[in-house]
Order: sequence, then structure tokens, then C-alpha cells
Amino acid sequence: MKIYIAGAGAMGCRFGVQLSEAGNDVTLLDNWEAHIQAIQQEGLKVVGDEEKTVQLPIMKPVEVEGEADLVILFTKAMQLKQMLQDIETVVGEQTRVLCLLNGLGHADVIKEYVPESNILMGVTVWTAGLKGPGTVLMQGNGTINLQSLDASQEASGREITDVLNGAGLNATYDTDVVPSIWRKACVNGTMNSGCALLDCTIGELFASESGLKIVREIIHEFVSVGIAEGVDLNEEEITNYVMDISVKAAPHYPSMHQDLVQNRRLTEIDYLNGAVNEKAKRLGISTPYCQMMTQLIHTKEDIFGIN
Ligand code: NAD
Repeated sequence: MKIYIAGAGAMGCRFGVQLSEAGNDVTLLDNWEAHIQAIQQEGLKVVGDEEKTVQLPIMKPVEVEGEADLVILFTKAMQLKQMLQDIETVVGEQTRVLCLLNGLGHADVIKEYVPESNILMGVTVWTAGLKGPGTVLMQGNGTINLQSLDASQEASGREITDVLNGAGLNATYDTDVVPSIWRKACVNGTMNSGCALLDCTIGELFASESGLKIVREIIHEFVSVGIAEGVDLNEEEITNYVMDISVKAAPHYPSMHQDLVQNRRLTEIDYLNGAVNEKAKRLGISTPYCQMMTQLIHTKEDIFGIN
């Protein structure tokens, strides 16, 4: 299958490597000049569970020619719209577009550029990191849950699920993936923003009684807004899920900490707590914790001068 990975950061590189090794024709699309040059000149270096160098074509999105069978979107949320504009000419009538970004609201953006019948939405708990331009850290296992946005396109969604499974990516076609997308967003909306603001690990945040109170309030806000939007969410189940991950991931700094504190990069806050707060405003619900977390993260971005 001819696959473009649109956004070849940590996750895009991981998926690119696995799908290419499974025999697919994969091209990475990215705009980070140093990363492109490193991969073009020396190949993509993989570290972690395995050490190897993989030869994969990489180019800027505006340079790619020819329609893909599948595009996998792996930009950061704030880069999504620009990426969709840049690849518009190579998304044909038969091109399926799969979104596995964290956060809420992406389907509405993608629908501006891709027919609904070709869109697949999903969520993944695979992880990856970038050690620098051209070097990806791949450790551990994960899963993917996905669904065709247009329910009549289930067969097409199942075909893509098989392609992902052929690459060992543990994908499941889910007949109601939206609650899983919200559940993951809630994990990110508690741990990411809290640890980035307080400059602490997940374990440190959850060991604090006061930190835990903030976490519980954020979960409550996510669940209240999700339910008001008609998403099938259960506060106790989500709380248990978040707590379980906080134990397993206790020593780690979440990705927003890495982005904001360690690398001084913009965050996905507007697609997590910020998205919940915006939805809440439209629904007439009050979400003071999500609002404050969003404002504080933006303040920190301002202080670091990265707007
Ligand atoms: P990433 O930050 O590694 O890459 C995103 C984009 O930013 C890429 O285009 C990349 O080239 C560019 N980029 C990265 N570092 C850069 C730098 N120093 N300078 C300039 N450009 C740089 O993003 P990711 O971690 O692959 O995440 C993509 C999406 O997947 C996000 O929505 C994220 O929340 C989600 N996600 C990530 C993980 C994870 O473990 N990383 C897991 C699940 C979901």
C-alpha cells in the first residue's frame, strides 16, 4: 500500500518504520529541515528496543507527487491545518486519511479538506520520542483503536486496520471510538498540563493531595462536557484509567513537559483542556479548572517567548 506519513516526528517515524518493514511503500512528509537532511543523508536511526538504521524517503509535504492509498496524520495538533493544505493535491478520491493525533476537535478540521467517507479517526497508546534530528526512540508496545467517520465505510476502515496489523501495530476496528479518544484526551488533560506547569513527573503530581484534587476536577470537567456532547463516558471508569496510567508512568515527564519545559516548543493545550473549555462555553457549562490550566500554559508559552 502506498502510504504517506504526514508529520514525521516521533510517532510518524515509528509508524513509518513499522509499516515500511511490513512491505508498504512509505514516504515521510515533514518540514523540519535538519530532520529531513539527517534522514536523507544517513537514514533514519532507530534506538530503544532495537538499534538499526532504516532507509526511508522523506520530503517536504509540498514536494510530494502522486496520490496515496493512505495518509496517516501525525503532526502536532496546531500543525494539522497547514499540513492538510500542503497535501491537498495528493489526497485523491480513493485516499483514506487516518488521524491518530491526541486531543479533541480534529475531525472538524480534516472534514474541510477530505470527504467524510475517506476519514478514519482513532487513538493510539503506542509511544515514541525524538532523540534529535533523524533519530527516533522506539520502546515498548501499544495499541490502536480506529473507526471510519462515516459508518457506511466500515469495510474500508477494516481494510486499513488489517494494514496496520500487518505491521504489528495491534489495531482494532472500533464501532464507537469517540469515548476512547476522549479517555486519552483526559489522560493528557490531567498529566500533561499539570506536570508542564508544576515542572514535575507524573508520580510527583499524583502523590500530592492537592495535585490529585486538581486531577479529579479536570476529569470531572472532561466527563461532564463529553456527556453533554453525547459521548458515552463514565467518570469512575475514566478516573480508574487515569490513576492506573499514573502508576505505570510515575517516573516519566509527559510530552507537554518535554515540549514546553525541556524544548521550549508550543503545546497542544488548546486541543485538550482548551477544547473542553471552548465546548463548555457553547454548552453553558462551567469548566474553571480547564480554563485556568489553558491560560496558565499559554502564559508560560508567553514567558518563554515561543508564541
Ligand atoms: P513530534 O513533536 O515528535 O513531531 C511533530 C512535528 O514536529 C513533526 O513535524 C516534527 O518534525 C516536528 N518537530 C519535532 N521536534 C522538532 C524540533 N525540535 N524542531 C522543529 N520541528 C520539530 O510529535 P509526536 O510526538 O510524533 O506527536 C504527534 C501526535 O501524536 C501528537 O498529536 C501527539 O500528541 C500524538 N501522540 C504522541 C505520542 C508520543 O509518544 N510521542 C503518543 C501518542 C500520540
